[in-house]
This record gives sequence, structure tokens and C-alpha cells, in this order.
Amino acid sequence: MRFDTVIIGGGLAGMTCGIRLAEAGQHCAIVSQGQSAIHFSSGSFDLLGHLPDGTAVSDPVAGIATLARQCPTHPYAVIGADSCARHAGEAPELLRRAGVPVAGDSRRNHFRITPLGKTKATWLTIDGYLTTEEAGRLPFRRVCIANIEGFLDFYPEFIAEEFNRQDVECRFGNFNHPDLEQIRRNPSEMRSANIARVFDREANLEALSESLRKLSEGCDALIVPAVIGLNRNDSLAYLRSRVDTPIHLLPTLPPSIPGIRAQQALQHRFRALGGEYFLGDSVLRAETEQGRVRRIFTANHGNIPFEAECFVLATGSFFSKGLVATPDRIVEPVFGADTVYAGGRSEWYTLRFFDRQAYQAFGVRTDAGLRVMKSGSALENLYCAGAGLSGFHPVQEECGAGVSLLSALHVAERILKN
Ligand SMILES: Cc1cc2nc3c(=O)[nH]c(=O)nc-3n(C[C@H](O)[C@H](O)[C@H](O)COP(=O)(O)OP(=O)(O)OC[C@H]3O[C@@H](n4cnc5c(N)ncnc54)[C@H](O)[C@@H]3O)c2cc1C
Repeated sequence: MRFDTVIIGGGLAGMTCGIRLAEAGQHCAIVSQGQSAIHFSSGSFDLLGHLPDGTAVSDPVAGIATLARQCPTHPYAVIGADSCARHAGEAPELLRRAGVPVAGDSRRNHFRITPLGKTKATWLTIDGYLTTEEAGRLPFRRVCIANIEGFLDFYPEFIAEEFNRQDVECRFGNFNHPDLEQIRRNPSEMRSANIARVFDREANLEALSESLRKLSEGCDALIVPAVIGLNRNDSLAYLRSRVDTPIHLLPTLPPSIPGIRAQQALQHRFRALGGEYFLGDSVLRAETEQGRVRRIFTANHGNIPFEAECFVLATGSFFSKGLVATPDRIVEPVFGADTVYAGGRSEWYTLRFFDRQAYQAFGVRTDAGLRVMKSGSALENLYCAGAGLSGFHPVQEECGAGVSLLSALHVAERILKN
């Protein structure tokens, strides 16, 4: 099989790169072995919340210029501040064209509310999710936090505790539906995706709107867990059209409905542009000649190779097995690419989970053009995008989705230019 570009990994980075290339007329394939981090996402995309030295960032584009001085190996520094600013303008448009309705401004972070009610700086948030322009200023004073009876992945009490600190009066309300009884029998089935399937049915959504209408009496707003709209786009609009009080969604613990929706929308967009998406297949090995990747081989296609002019490594970090830790090394399993890591294993992490962990910045070594290094030289036609890149701390710097989106657009731009 022959393509212009083959992308390995179908998470946010792989999809973004594939869509951009397909929009430009390339014939692309994405090979992806399974779920990606986006299935667990909050519904918000971070660009930059903190500098490496811990300073909070309100203007991410300005922050990226400062960051390049503090940490020259950060992917944003490698891409360059001007290119980052340009790609940060393109990314939301690409998401919207794919049917992921996001709002936000790369010159001004807004704040999302976490499943535990905390406020966190972010860049883009999917429409319908509760955000505020200023930390500590929620857009209501009296709220009803609604939950489904028996749903354990949403914590109204914690949320209320945080809201109370911002002088918001909270009360709780439960809703239920007979069609949930089937999944309620087994607590492990009572998860957001299964619940959302129940409310994808028109009659059940109508019943939900009736319950919410009653719960909303005397409140300025209703908070509802993100358990609607798995397979339909109009669920929230439907509820809002039937309930006069504003309804805001809050993310739940994973699986994430906004993440699954975004994944489906991106995949659909890629295929609609003529891209070929091989889900459930793993790239096992590659053949290189004279500094170029010639072909790759996958588990499902055996000896039938995937050949292309360019290849993109978007296999993510440890979470997606794009990187693997052995007792003494960090390995990139497909190409055996050079990796960046420091010291011995005991220096890779501390026992305090929320510390700035060294291992988070480990990743694939690239040249200034994001081409993958192997045995000290750049492979001419193999680029790396996304969470597998080295040099950044996605959690502390709040830049995970931003690095995936911007590096994917940058790689696509380089492929198209070359
Ligand atoms: C649990 C979790 C939640 C997060 N939530 C957020 C959030 O809410 N907001 C935010 O800004 N950032 C978040 N992040 C940061 C996250 O890294 C990025 O947002 C982004 O989604 C990463 O995308 P990616 O495509 O680079 O990598 P991944 O999403 O990890 O995708 C890599 C893909 O490659 C595939 N793959 C791996 N090896 C192979 C192979 N050999 N052959 C074929 N396919 C392969 C994997 O199956 C996977 O589909 C989160 C990260 C994690 C781990």
C-alpha cells in the first residue's frame, strides 16, 4: 500500500496532522492501535498555563516567547514562538471544521472547572462546558448540582465545597430514568458512556429535560455531569431549549464523553477527506535505507508494507506505549529512535505523585525540524508530533493538548513545504 504520508498513532496529534495533510490534498493513512489520551480528556485543550519556573501564564502566546528562553529544548521553543502563534490560530479552526465546537483565545487563558470543582487555566473548551473568564468568579450565585442516582464518577459534594468558597449557594438534585436500571445492576457498567447511550434516545432526553426543569426551580444555573451526547450533537441544545435556566456541563471522571465525541469527529473528518484510518492495528517495525524510512509493517497486515514519502511518529508517551521504560533505558519501540532521558531509574520520579516528575519530559529526540533522530542522525522523512516529544511537562506547564496540536500542524507544514 502506498500513500503520500503514513501517520503512526491516531490520538490528537496524529489526527490533526492527518486532517491538515488531507485538507491540502495528500493521500494519507493513520495506523492506530487503540484508544488515545483524548478519550480521557477534560473537554478543554491547554496551550500554556505555567512556565517551567512555575510562573502562571495569562497570555499563552506571550508566555511561549518567555518559555523559549527558560527551556530551549521545549517543543514550543523548537517550533519557534512565531510559528507557535500561527499554529495556535489555525488549530481551533481545524477543530471547528472537524465538528469540534471550541471557544477560547490563545492570547488569554480562560478557566475550566475540573470534575472536583477546581478552577484551572486553559486555552480552548468545547461548547457547553462551564468556564469562567476570571478565576474565582463563577457566572451564577445559586446553583443546583444535578447527578444521576448511583453514578459514582461525579462528585457534587466536592464541587459544592469549591463553589461555596466563591460564595455560590449550592443545592443537590438527583435524576433517574427506568432505562438506567439495566446498567445499574452492575456498578462497573454505570459509567458515563453507557449512561450517555441511554440519553441518546429522544424519549429519554425528553424525560431528562423534564427532570432538570423541576430541579432548576429557584436556581440561576444547573450543573449537569457530561453524560449526554455520545452519538448526537444536539443533546445539550435540546435540553437548553426545554429548560429556561442555563445548563452547564462538567466533565466526569473518565471515560470522557467530550473526548470520545472529539475523537469520533476528528476520525470522521479525516475519512471524509479521503484519509484511510486503520484502527486496532499496531506498527511493529520499519525498514530504513540511506537515512530514509522506506516502509513500515503492522500486526494486521503482516508482510504487506505501508510505503510513503513521509512518515509521522505520533504514538504518544508512556500512557499509549509510544515510549517504554526498561529498567535502565527509555525506548521508542517502533523505530528504535534516540530518546532523551536523564540519570538512573531512581532519578526518573519522586514518590510524591504531584511533583514535577523528571520522566514526564522524557521523549523522542528530534532535530530543529522535528525530524526523528536515530543513532545521532535525523531520519530524513520521519517526523515526530505530540506527547512522545521530549522536553516538556504537560501537567505542570498545562500544555499537553497544545504541544500535540501545534507540533502536528508544524510537522504537516514542513511535509507540505518539502
Ligand atoms: C489521561 C490523560 C488525560 C489528558 N487530558 C488532557 C486534557 O484534558 N487537556 C489537555 O490539554 N491535555 C490532556 N492530556 C495531555 C495529552 O497528552 C494531550 O492532550 C494529547 O491528547 C496527547 O495526544 P497524542 O496524539 O500526542 O498522544 P496519544 O493521545 O497518547 O495518542 C497516541 C496514539 O498512538 C497509538 N499508538 C501507540 N503505539 C502505536 C503503534 N506501535 N502502532 C500504532 N499506534 C500506536 C496509541 O494507541 C494512541 O492512539 C491528557 C493526557 C492523559 C494521559
